[in-house]
Amino acid sequence: MTAKLIDGKALSLKVRAEVKSLVSERTQLGKRPPSLAVILIGGDPASQVYVGHKRKACKETGITSQSYDLPKETTQYELLGLIDDLNNDTSIDGILVQLPLPDHIDTSLVIEHIHPDKDVDGFHPLNIGKLALRIPKIRPCTPYGIMYLLDSIGETYKGRHAVVVGASNIVGRPMMMELLLAGATVTLCHRFSSNTPELVAQADIVIVAVGKAGLVKGEWIKKGATVIDVGINRSNDGKLIGDIEFEAAAKKATWITPVPGGVGPMTVAILMKNTLMAYNKHQL
Ligand code: NAD
Repeated sequence: MTAKLIDGKALSLKVRAEVKSLVSERTQLGKRPPSLAVILIGGDPASQVYVGHKRKACKETGITSQSYDLPKETTQYELLGLIDDLNNDTSIDGILVQLPLPDHIDTSLVIEHIHPDKDVDGFHPLNIGKLALRIPKIRPCTPYGIMYLLDSIGETYKGRHAVVVGASNIVGRPMMMELLLAGATVTLCHRFSSNTPELVAQADIVIVAVGKAGLVKGEWIKKGATVIDVGINRSNDGKLIGDIEFEAAAKKATWITPVPGGVGPMTVAILMKNTLMAYNKHQL
């Protein structure tokens, strides 16, 4: 391996420590701590793990988390009713609905129902639109966390070609907008792209968010590139692995994120930062 690791774990602890200190400043002034409502529907094991990380991060940073663990039979009507209550509750700053939702619930409708000021995931059309229009407010956690990772290694963006693989609403698309905002030239590849290997081979920055282990081959990577792996997959022996062939890519790249310990911890840290930001809007 020749590439240097981008340590998302260490950077996330730094961001969390900053949030903790700002929360503590406010509580010492006699204000209430920020609060995050976390809604989990059904017992999907992966979702339970992610929600567990988020609740733990809240505890460590001094943010109050309120749990709404609901059965998988919860109706859309009931969920929208709960979101209405939380939107109107002045003691709640952020609302997080863990995705994916059961098939009988319309995810877009649910996201649009969350008040944009409480949308700490940054998925509401208003928040996505603000990012697209270069006036970002609450920004989607994973792409924003990746910008922190890139900033931490001195990435300069302007005049650089970034190739994003995967075009989902929660990672690929907002990632493209973050990179564009920072001044990079951006190419977005998705399931219908016919020349992803050739495009990746031209990239100074490669970001992959697909959810298919080993999709991006090490040989595709341009020498000296920065490589960010968002994917989370289980290998046959039960280990967590990304979407990129790590060992082979690390031979070509200058910087690379590990899985685990790269993007994942940053997503949670930015959620804490977004919750503090949502709180500040009401409490300052
Ligand atoms: P998604 O399924 O919503 O989207 C996948 C995208 O990949 C789609 O745009 C699709 O067009 C594209 N795609 C599929 N096959 C492709 C191919 N062969 N070539 C190019 N593009 C292809 O997934 P998502 O929610 O964006 O998540 C992607 C991965 O990132 C998953 O493994 C998920 O677990 C992980 N993830 C990690 C974090 C984190 O914090 N580390 C956060 C969100 C998602």
